Amino acid sequence: MNRQDFHMFIPAQVETALNTLEEAGFEAYLVGGCVRDALLGLQPEDFDITTNALPAQTRALFEPRYKLITTGVKHGTIAPIIDRRPIEITTYRIDGGYSDNRHPDSVHFSGRIEDDLARRDFTVNALAFSPARGLVDAFDSLRDLESGTIRCVGEADVRFGEDALRIMRALRFSAVLGFEIEPQTAASIRKNVQSIRSVSAERIYTELKKLLSGKEAARVLAQFPCLWETLFGFSPSERAVRALEGEREAIFRLALLFAGEDAAALQRLKPDNKTYRYVKRLGELYQKELAQEQTTASGLAMFMHQNNIDVACMKALLRMHALLEEDFRAQAFPVEEAARMPLSVRELAIGGEDLLARGITGKALSRELERLLEAVIRGEVKNEKEALLKRESQHN
Ligand code: ATP
Ligand code: MG
Repeated sequence: MNRQDFHMFIPAQVETALNTLEEAGFEAYLVGGCVRDALLGLQPEDFDITTNALPAQTRALFEPRYKLITTGVKHGTIAPIIDRRPIEITTYRIDGGYSDNRHPDSVHFSGRIEDDLARRDFTVNALAFSPARGLVDAFDSLRDLESGTIRCVGEADVRFGEDALRIMRALRFSAVLGFEIEPQTAASIRKNVQSIRSVSAERIYTELKKLLSGKEAARVLAQFPCLWETLFGFSPSERAVRALEGEREAIFRLALLFAGEDAAALQRLKPDNKTYRYVKRLGELYQKELAQEQTTASGLAMFMHQNNIDVACMKALLRMHALLEEDFRAQAFPVEEAARMPLSVRELAIGGEDLLARGITGKALSRELERLLEAVIRGEVKNEKEALLKRESQHN
């Protein structure tokens, strides 16, 4: 990468913000993730600006023309809304001590861009760029971007000690960008991994989801089984980690890693209900044996009915078996064919009212519907009203 040749696409609103600061005599740079992503040829998600203008000066510059969001002002951030887009502008900052592994006890403003870059977590996140001033690479970030390396800015032990969330972020960037973690940073992660327990569940979970959807999630979990042990109290099985290669979706990957484990451990991270139920359900179903008899449409339909499994869930379950067991043949299970059968009493051609009309009520009624459904699944009677009523009267 040649720093002279570097150009990046900058949205008009962001350019307006940069120019407004520069024209008033301040320095203004894009910084962090957006510069990293642009250099990697990726579309940046958000554009953060860093400047030597103090918050009050930034405010005075933008206030006459734009609405401002000032909720971050304590940390030096003012966000003018330019053409409906909030642009975060933060004063160069040196973070004071950290007594809680997460929040700086104090922040000091600085006049030097290098100070601001020094507080950032990893070298690849510590680049600044401005069309007027070019690239500032104070920590050999370009070298690490080129070789694909995640390395702490400064002493890894110190940086992870200040903010344990950085451990999750390092692993996440490694998985998402496909970058290797530099040996000293990696050693420090293994040494300090326990400290992520002090980070809020929500923050860990957000990072974990990103990590799991990363293209190299499997490699990261294989290199750092300590993460899973710290978060959930068990090591991910080798076959589950290998299985991740066959699947990209984070939730399904989570289900693979929890197959055969107690999903309750996941609760600690306060996942959304849908995810938790999905992981727990697939895990429980995975414990049930899929037998030879379930390779017939009627056998499989019976299994689905008895366990209340719909088509999507059955497909996910088969995929799970196929990814986790080498000799498993998912094609042997005729899901589509089974799904054409009624799998619940609601899909029967008769309903409760038909039986009520014949004086069948209460428990007997649901038992009878159930019996008829199973007869349909076994192929003993067609799912047609007349046939079902006839069978019902034979029974009684
Ligand atoms: P993405 O937006 O893709 O998640 P990002 O690198 O932009 O990645 P943000 O959380 O948006 O991450 O943070 C923006 C920048 O702020 C980072 O690039 C980094 O320079 C800095 N940063 C964020 N979190 C931390 C942290 N915990 N410690 C130190 N610096 C941080
Ligand atoms: Mg970002």
